[in-house]
Amino acid sequence: MGSLIKSWVESANSAETPFPLNNLPFGRYFDGAVKTPCTAIGDDILDLRAVEKTGLLTVGRGDFFQHAGGVNAFMEAGPETWSAVRAALTKLLSESNFEKREALSACLRPMNETRMAMPFDVSEFTDFYAGRHHATNVGTMFRGAENALPPNWLHIPIGYNGRASSVVVSGSDVRRPWGQLKSPDHDVPAFLPSRRFDFELEMGAVVGMPSDGPISVTEADAAIFGYVLLNDWSARDIQAWEYQPLGPFQAKATATTISPWIVTAEALDPFRVDTPAREFALLDHLKDAGPMLYDIELDVTLSPKNGAPTTVTRTNYREMYYSAAQQLAHHTTSGCPMRTGDLLGSGTISGPEKSARGSMLELSWGGKEPLTLDNGETRAFLEDGDTLTLSGAARGDGFTIGFGPCAGTLLPALNEPYAV
Ligand code: CA
Repeated sequence: MGSLIKSWVESANSAETPFPLNNLPFGRYFDGAVKTPCTAIGDDILDLRAVEKTGLLTVGRGDFFQHAGGVNAFMEAGPETWSAVRAALTKLLSESNFEKREALSACLRPMNETRMAMPFDVSEFTDFYAGRHHATNVGTMFRGAENALPPNWLHIPIGYNGRASSVVVSGSDVRRPWGQLKSPDHDVPAFLPSRRFDFELEMGAVVGMPSDGPISVTEADAAIFGYVLLNDWSARDIQAWEYQPLGPFQAKATATTISPWIVTAEALDPFRVDTPAREFALLDHLKDAGPMLYDIELDVTLSPKNGAPTTVTRTNYREMYYSAAQQLAHHTTSGCPMRTGDLLGSGTISGPEKSARGSMLELSWGGKEPLTLDNGETRAFLEDGDTLTLSGAARGDGFTIGFGPCAGTLLPALNEPYAV
């Protein structure tokens, strides 16, 4: 697990801070209107553009972070550069470094006074369906317990090509969509605001190294720069009507919220765990090649418009059946090129217990068993004004690796979606 690496930034030395020196995630904050690459240390962010300007960060090109596309440029530089920059930042911020503290202090900004931008430019977004408990729960509701898992599910990571254009950073509001719905009680569909709007608790893997052609699971693992928290907002009623035979489309296109920080695979390395035991051996191109999941505790809170947050889900990323490396390797089997900044959603992460279900669809069992919130209100699906917040933490010996919140508030549907 390692132990806390102490920093001269005092707030980074508590066991609870999500951003000790062991973490050093990458993101961008708004310096005025400019998206500026930065890292987090304790209660502060460190402006990496400013650090480069001091001449103290000369690893790699030494000018990665001078422009808004800097995080993507840095990711494209590859694992050796990732490690070298991380090592250089660790040295500069460590308790034992007494040089240039004043110059570095001038690059710190209080995190609570900064507004975070999207941490990187998303090239494309693919979403998977790799949580066994989630797939089993949803399959049981739709097809019965006997046919819960489709016959392909234990052999390939199921996924679909989603939209990069609607991936938004934590804190962005989400508008309840209109869509075509068909209730089982009616013969004809209707165009209405979604009545079964939902969240999905997921992790997103961020591709750093591009590829052009099939890559192995080991190569895929090395190509992943890091991970974000991801909420795949989903309109269940739109999904139920549209999904056959090509899968989700408008049901998933409204918004996908991600956390403001990419936590690097290197920071998460001490928390690697194996995928679960399998009843069918995977084909060679998907075979496990070492521990490639991570022990990351996850939870979701639902805050009603006028009420305190209720924790509705507690689970762990290690519940997944396929690792992001297996998903990425599978993605390339067709020869599909992958780009720096490609985002791969894990699929909804549900655990075996009821309290570990990662969506309202499962928590309320299709709306039949509404949840009771701490303020006495009930929820089958989300209501206007609800704020959903995803949190994640990998816990080491006296330190925590966090992601920052992944939050979004649901706004009411437009009165009329079109000017008529
Ligand atoms: Ca999903």
